[in-house]
Amino acid sequence: MIIKKIGIDLGTQNTLVYVPKRGIVINEPSVVAISKVDKKILSVGLDAKEMLGRTPETIVASRPLKDGVIADYKTTAVMLRYFVNKALGGVHLFRPEVMVAVPAGITSTERRAVIDATIAAGAKAAYIIKEPVVAAIGAGIPIGSPSGHMIVDIGGGTSEMAIISLGGIVASNSVRIGGNRFDLAITEFIRRKYGLAIGDRSAERIKIDIGSALYLNEKLVKDIRGRDVISGLPRTLTINSDDVTEALQGELEGVIRAVKDLLQKTPPELSADIIDKGMIMSGGSSQLRNIDQLLTRATGVPAFIAEDALLCVAKGTGIALENLESYKRSILAMK
Ligand code: ADP
Ligand code: MG
Repeated sequence: MIIKKIGIDLGTQNTLVYVPKRGIVINEPSVVAISKVDKKILSVGLDAKEMLGRTPETIVASRPLKDGVIADYKTTAVMLRYFVNKALGGVHLFRPEVMVAVPAGITSTERRAVIDATIAAGAKAAYIIKEPVVAAIGAGIPIGSPSGHMIVDIGGGTSEMAIISLGGIVASNSVRIGGNRFDLAITEFIRRKYGLAIGDRSAERIKIDIGSALYLNEKLVKDIRGRDVISGLPRTLTINSDDVTEALQGELEGVIRAVKDLLQKTPPELSADIIDKGMIMSGGSSQLRNIDQLLTRATGVPAFIAEDALLCVAKGTGIALENLESYKRSILAMK
């Protein structure tokens, strides 16, 4: 099959590549492993993540996107090229059109950088679209309609939220709170309460396996392993979902505050639509148990998790590419 169009969700945590009619063809961590000595790129994506944390000092693993912005343009370009080539596979005669989803808060310089990187990666044409808009498209929201739609994307590095009407962003908000901060909060809590040091990956596992944004009636339990802070020796411990809920309180309050801020910035006519239709949630961290319930209770606006919450942004880029004409008002830049 000849691939003519490629949609990319350039996430702080994961990069997803979507090919229309095929679906998600790549889902890998947004990580690049670099040799310190000669600055050579050693590996990208899954291979690079494997190196993270276990690398000798001469290899540094870098996440070129941080807190929802492009922290390192050059590495981002290399990463893009790797993913585009991987999606196209082996020999390819045609250069594809590529649509890249970027954080809403991106500056015009960064926007150009992404466009240039995409062209350099082998694209015939490059388009940029803002994440909240494309998440809404991927979630099946009719964003071109004149009524208000609200989307809340809780990812790894940030939570991005926006009110969309007539294909564009009317109001938006972004906070640097997401799954990474959740993991950190769990690590700190367990160290403080139980004197046990655990790694980043264990914290994420705990969050996914037993985490909940609200206290559960039927608690989930999990055995965890770590290093005793005092003795320095390995130790096993059983924790339950209440520990995780308590650990996440502060971060979740931050998300609630951001959502409330956005609701307060929303023009009144659109507020009415949003109360009616609710807010749609996307992003990996919207899969935390009961986070929709928490937001509903805290704001009075019903929250719904989009189907395929993790894939919305990537799917949306594909849909926008296939319907460029209808979404042209939503496209931020092109080359
Ligand atoms: P980004 O767009 O920033 O790359 P993603 O939308 O891919 O981020 O989300 C990644 C985050 O989602 C990670 O912090 C991960 O731990 C979290 N996550 C994935 N699945 C779950 C789950 N079932 N419950 C809670 N968090 C999850
Ligand atoms: Mg994302």
